[in-house]
Amino acid sequence: MIRCSSLPRLLACPGSMLRPAAPYDPVREVAEEGTDLHEQAAEAIEHGPGSRDALAEKAAEFWRNHSRGATPIIEQALQGDLLRGHPDAFGLLDEIDADAILCDWKFGYIHRPARDQLLGYAVLLKELHGVDVVEAHAYWPRLGITDTYLFDADDRADFARRLDEAERMAGNRYAPGQHCTYCPHQLACQARSDHLAAGVQALTTVDRGEITPAKLVELWPKFKAAEKALAAYKDAVKAALNTGAITHGGHRLRLEQRNQERLVAHKAKAVVLQTLPADTWDKACSVSKTALVDAVKAGAKRGQKKKAADALLADLRAAGAISTSQTEVINYEQVIDQND
Ligand code: SF4
Repeated sequence: MIRCSSLPRLLACPGSMLRPAAPYDPVREVAEEGTDLHEQAAEAIEHGPGSRDALAEKAAEFWRNHSRGATPIIEQALQGDLLRGHPDAFGLLDEIDADAILCDWKFGYIHRPARDQLLGYAVLLKELHGVDVVEAHAYWPRLGITDTYLFDADDRADFARRLDEAERMAGNRYAPGQHCTYCPHQLACQARSDHLAAGVQALTTVDRGEITPAKLVELWPKFKAAEKALAAYKDAVKAALNTGAITHGGHRLRLEQRNQERLVAHKAKAVVLQTLPADTWDKACSVSKTALVDAVKAGAKRGQKKKAADALLADLRAAGAISTSQTEVINYEQVIDQND
């Protein structure tokens, strides 16, 4: 049984279809945050606007603007002969140009093609609900990007052909790329290692004085892939050193504890207010929004935690106690050429 969310990777790299030799746990903080936002978006569609996370509210608003009045079916488990998946929201229509509308939220920071995932849902909607034409949207609330597709019988036939081809090539053809990020084979995959090595080679031999704008764009995915591999290696080293130092070939790796001073806020405040001008504390003090929300959640009863955190944030917003600052990130995104 194939998960629709794996389709972009499976179709891009048939090698990843094989079952991994070792168990793989892809749980990450970002994935957990995404799950929470999906739950909030579902709630916002069912109950209307409220004081939820702004990204979840945007997703629900997107549904309201695109659903053409269809009754939302939210995160329903669809299981067919070959595929399974949970589209975030879909609704059945009785219109000439489409029999169903489907929306999937992407709460991450990266715009990755999701066409094959949505096409997988369209195949399931045909199999389970007899839907011939699906208008499907992938929406990135954080980035303000929407990819829209209209899937019909020709797309389903093309999908079946490509999936069949991928299944025949499973284990024989590998195509590393951004999709390796969520692949269960990534740690043992020779093709990915070779791809990373070639990327690092390209990055380390680039001449800064002669680098062209085209080269800068071309090398960026290689840099990100190498950066992720380095971070994963560092995590693995830290995990291994938690049980003690490691010595090999005359060198040793060990975790060293270093002291870092931090102020105890409630005690520091009394001292500062006594000895310094009144506005010194305000200028020097910042409060962690995450720590504050976590503290409120920890003190709330079970089932009331999210409500308590939302109420606090609403009060803080109303009091003007939340400001927004700008940070710079480098985005690597697809550009549609209007002349194509
Ligand atoms: S790690 Fe990348 S190249 Fe290797 S099997 Fe997975 S998707 Fe394919």
